[in-house]
Formats: sequence, structure tokens, C-alpha cells
Amino acid sequence: MGTPIYRSVVRYLKPGFFKRASNLLRLDDSAQDREERFRALVQNSFDIITIHDADGTTLYESPAASRILGYPAGALVGRTPFRSIHPKDDERARETFENLASGGDPVAIEFRYRHFDGSWIWLEVLGNNLLEHPGVGGIVLTSRDITERKHADEKTQYLENYDLLTGLPNRGLMLDRVNQAVAHAKRTRERLALMHIGVDRFKIINETLGHFVGDSLLKAAADRIKSCTDETNTIARVGGDEFTIIVPDAARLHTVSATASKILAEMSQAFPGTSQDVFVSASIGVSLFPDDSKSADELTKHADAAMYSAKKLGRNNYQFFTHALNEEAHERMVLEAGLRQAMQRDEMYLVYQPKIDLESRQVIGAEALLRWNHPKLGLVAPARFIPVAEESGMVSEIGEWVLRTACAQIRTCQGMDLFPQIAVNVSAHQFHQYDLSKLVSTVIREEQIAPESLEIEMTESAVMHDAESSVVTLERLKQLGVGIAIDDFGTGYSSLSYLKRLPLDILKIDRSFVRDISHDANDAAIVRAIITLARSLGMKVTAEGVEDEAQLQFLNAYGCEYAQGYLFGEPMACDDFTERLRPRKKRVAS
Ligand code: C2E
Ligand code: MG
Ligand code: MG
Repeated sequence: MGTPIYRSVVRYLKPGFFKRASNLLRLDDSAQDREERFRALVQNSFDIITIHDADGTTLYESPAASRILGYPAGALVGRTPFRSIHPKDDERARETFENLASGGDPVAIEFRYRHFDGSWIWLEVLGNNLLEHPGVGGIVLTSRDITERKHADEKTQYLENYDLLTGLPNRGLMLDRVNQAVAHAKRTRERLALMHIGVDRFKIINETLGHFVGDSLLKAAADRIKSCTDETNTIARVGGDEFTIIVPDAARLHTVSATASKILAEMSQAFPGTSQDVFVSASIGVSLFPDDSKSADELTKHADAAMYSAKKLGRNNYQFFTHALNEEAHERMVLEAGLRQAMQRDEMYLVYQPKIDLESRQVIGAEALLRWNHPKLGLVAPARFIPVAEESGMVSEIGEWVLRTACAQIRTCQGMDLFPQIAVNVSAHQFHQYDLSKLVSTVIREEQIAPESLEIEMTESAVMHDAESSVVTLERLKQLGVGIAIDDFGTGYSSLSYLKRLPLDILKIDRSFVRDISHDANDAAIVRAIITLARSLGMKVTAEGVEDEAQLQFLNAYGCEYAQGYLFGEPMACDDFTERLRPRKKRVAS
């Protein structure tokens, strides 16, 4: 009797059902009986049954629609359901429907639908394309209200992933996020930092002052940690008294140390207790991808280990996993603190390195180079402190001082009837962050010096970093009449098409190429190529770091115009430099 499927279904029905099921499926019913029976089934179904045309317009809704969705009976007919679907689910729902309408297999989908009272309810919808079915001629959707189940799921998911006390992600979710962050950092080749923070002496407080005080201290600690970091960073509570921060954009070690210092300062402030204030401190361990850890697993282990070494070193401090990074972070901290006072304490001064015209062999000017005499560290090289000044935002102030001091020196020379051209180095930050031409024009006017006696030097990478805006800044400088040089040429990546558009006067060949020109064929070829390139672009060339006669002869032979280097003079005090200018009392043609 019946098809194999029919037989297998009825086999599992209880004996009492067997007869009723056979009645239901009886083939000798009249068409009218069957229609009535199915209408009754649909009308009384707990689930919503709707029939749609291929565009989604509702042709029929069962009574459950009005009961579940709250709209007056029949309100859905003649409309498509899409506009009432949650914006986050809408696209997925449309795609699924279109796919079904164009002949796809039956599907199940879950989405949020707007109830008549404005709230969202979750529906689980099964769709079946019966457009070709002679008795139906539409797409049939059976929708079930699963809101309660969804909310229960969300709650379970929250409990699985978040810490109830602080509302922060817990260890499990944090490990997930570290994995994601490492994968992202691998793709983008960015540096990632993981900070592991332990609240010192928490256990003692919890045991002596009670759990209520302990809990409120942890909540307050979480808030303080949050206030010290970027909102986009993940902060997690990974243990009783331990927190972790994932810092995805950690290119600057300095920024990471600054955040750690801020957390230490915040955590050492008093926490209000029930009867008296409570004091704690924190110990922080930092690991870095890819510097000291190659995987998410290593990153977490190393941050943990670094935190324990911070605890061992007496608590209330932070430690990087790698010793070298600790030293670097420490040095930066010392330099930054020192830089803030260096200007007021007159610890900075300029030295001048003579620039020679190779044809006349005369000193025609100098490059002004910054020196810092630190009270404890002694003389600090600019390569060490300029990057710190850039990161801490102090480079503009220092740069302005350099410009003013150099221009004042030009004016002093002019008073002695000497007319050197002095080159001033400008850092990338100074160049891109504020209107350099405005400052230069003010200083030239105030010092009353000829604009051509000043040359502005920028490194190749600073100019090419944002070549389009460099064109504008350099044009403005050019209009003032100052000379413009590209420093360390050959070490960055110049776009030749931009090089052509930039109003440059001088290319300075980097010392690293000049060093070996007399015995390294590649360096010799590079130097020759730079001279040829400069010539074809109407620029002149200064060779940096010329130390011996062989280099000088080579440069002369290929028509290099100017040179600097120990062969002619090391950077020197301004009086010594003025002495070097004395034999030649003619104005320099720029
Ligand atoms: P730079 O502008 O390329 O300066 C040339 C560097 O090479 C100077 O180092 C100079 O002392 C050194 N030098 C010159 N001739 C020779 C030589 O024959 N042999 C060798 N071995 N070295 C030579 P310094 O003074 O340590 O400056 C390093 C860098 O710091 C400079 O490179 C420049 O980029 C930056 N700097 C210096 N002063 C300032 C400043 O006032 N502002 C800014 N933003 N950067 C500065
Ligand atoms: Mg320079
Ligand atoms: Mg240079």
C-alpha cells in the first residue's frame, strides 16, 4: 500500500495514528474534501504560512501572521516582506528569496522582522518554490517565531565570552581576538602589542577587606584601564586579577610605553573602599609581534612571562619581553623627559659643516646640524633624539628654534660682509604638519636676510611619502626664493615623475654611496647616474661625506658641483665656520 516513503513514515507512527494518517492521505477523497482539509490545516497552523509571487509580493497570509506579527489580518497581502526585515538581515533575506524564486532548492533562513509594535522578532523561515505547482502557483514560506530561543542563545553566548563582573571579554574571547589580530598583522605586516596587566596585592585585599571591596576594585580597575587606551583596542579580564590589552597599531614602541606608563599611574591612585581608601599598583608585561613572538600562542605566553618579570623587579613597572626593547623603551623615556627641558635649559646648539664649491674649492656655505648636550648622557646624536622629538610632538618647536638660530647666524655673517648659504634640515613631521612656508617667510622677514642665503633640506623619504602635498609645500617655499635640497638621495624610493615636478635645486647624494665610489663599481655607477639625472632635471649635486682625495677626484671627474665631508671639515662651532669663510668675501650665486 502506498509509496516506500509513505510506508516508512507510517511505520514510525503509533498504532492509534496509523488509521488517522491513512485517512488523511486517502487517495479516494474528493478534490473538495482535500482542499477543505488542507485549508483547515493551514488556517490553524501555529506557524505563519504565506504565499508570494516571484517578486516577493504576498498573495496569501495565514491567520497566524496577524497573531505573531501583530498587524491587522490581511495587512501583509499585496506587499513584499523585505521592508520590514532588519537592515542587517535584509540583504541576505533578499538574496535567499531571489535565489529561491529563480528555481533554487528549498531553504531555511533566520532573520529579524519588525513587529507591529515596533519591536524586532526573530523568525525562522522555510521557503519552498511551488510556482510551477498547479494547485499553489507561488512561493510558500513557513515562518516560526524563534525570538525566545534567540535571546536565550545570545545570553548563553554572552556568558561564554564575557566576564560578568566587568562586562569585559573573558580569556576565551581574548584568545580568539589575539588569533585574529595576529592573522591581520601578518597580512598587513604591522606590529602588534599584547599587554598583560596584573593588579599587585589584589589577593591580600580580597582576603582582608572582603569580596565586596575586591569586586568593586576590579570594576574600577577595568574602567581605569579602559580610559588609558584607544576605544578600538580589545581589553579583556583573563584571570581573577589580570587584564589583557591587544594593541593592534603598535608601530611606535614609544606609544606602547606611554600607554603602559599611563596605566601604572592610574592604578596607583587611591580606590575608594568601604571605610578607607585602598591602594594597589600594577605590573605590566608587553610582548610584540613579530619582534619577539611569531604566533598568538607565543605572544600570550611572552606577555605573561614579561609581567612576572615586572613583578619580580618590585612591581609597579612595565617590562617588555625582550631585553633590548626594554633598553630602547627606557632610553626613549629618558630622552623624551630630557627633551621637554632641553630648550629652556639651553642644552641645544648648532654646529656648521662647510660646503665646498668643487670648481673654485671655496667654502660657500654650510649645513647647520643640531647638537644636544644632555646633562647626564652627554652629547646625544640627532639620529637618536630627532625620532623621539617627532613622536612626542616636540619636533616643530625644536625645528623652529633651529631655523631661527641658523637665520640669526646668516644675519651675523651678513653684518661681517660674509654671505654664506646655510642649509637647515627639516624633518618629515615639520614638512607635512604645518605651513612651513609661512614660518620660513616670517623668520626671513624678521631676521632681514636674503632668502637665497637659506637652503631647506628634506630627506627623500619625507618628500616622497606624500608627493602630491610635497609639490604644493615646495612650490610655496620656492616662491619665497629659498633654495631646496633633497637630502640622503638614493636611500629612499623616488618617483621620477614627481622628481620632475618638484621645484628642487640640489640633490644631495647620500654618504653611503660616496663612501665606496673609488672601489665599488655599483656605487660608482649609482653616483654617476644621480649626477646625470640631476643634470637632466636642471638640478645641482652635493656629495655628502667626502673623506678622501680619491672620492674627490671621482666626483670632480663626473662634474659634481658641491661637496661636504671630513676632508673639508667636520661640523664646527659657528665662530670656526665664520673663520673658514673669511678668505672669500664675495656674495654667493645660488
Ligand atoms: P644629514 O642631514 O644627512 O647630515 C649629515 C650627517 O653626516 C651629519 O651627521 C654629519 O655630521 C655627518 N657627516 C658629514 N660629513 C661626514 C663625513 O665625511 N663622514 C661621516 N662619517 N659623516 C659625516 P649628524 O650631525 O649626526 O646628523 C645626522 C642626521 O640628523 C642628519 O643627517 C639629519 O638628517 C639629522 N639632523 C641633524 N640636524 C638636524 C636638524 O636640525 N633638524 C632635523 N630635522 N634633522 C637634523
Ligand atoms: Mg642634511
Ligand atoms: Mg644627508
